[in-house]
Amino acid sequence: MDFDVICPYCGRDKDRVIDSRASENGEAVRRRRECGGCRQRFTTYERVEKTSRLMVIKKDGSRVPFDSNNVLVGLQAACGKRPVSEEVKLKLAREIDARVHREFEREVPSAEIGKFVASLLREIDEISYIRYASEYHDFRTLDEFADELDQLKARPKNLPNQQRLFAAEE
Ligand SMILES: [Zn+2]
Repeated sequence: MDFDVICPYCGRDKDRVIDSRASENGEAVRRRRECGGCRQRFTTYERVEKTSRLMVIKKDGSRVPFDSNNVLVGLQAACGKRPVSEEVKLKLAREIDARVHREFEREVPSAEIGKFVASLLREIDEISYIRYASEYHDFRTLDEFADELDQLKARPKNLPNQQRLFAAEE
């Protein structure tokens, strides 16, 4: 089924498609149409809608497209040789991807992504969390860092957390 398009010459919306072909290396369909009123011919193009990509606003104000692969790379760096399996890191990256897209529409400050990552890492592995937090928190003084460690020590311990964190979704 094809819809009529308003004629750019006479304004009527009664036309006939006289030719359809692939265009722009297959990314568009080009249709030649002939107006049923004035017989003028015109062309329409059909393309895939450009999805609005979520952009990350970095600390320096620059913007880059959100890429969950970067989240994974950050997790891998933070986890280093810690006993956190690749599978868990992938799950975390996916969870963060979903959460970021759920809560932000067009732009997300990188610090917000950092907070998501940190809050999940804290449940998984405290050493990795501290490594990550020291990157993104930007601790200014040793005291700030010590405070964070104190808070961490004061949290109730009920490991193993890796199972608990993902138990709900399985
Ligand atoms: Zn016309």
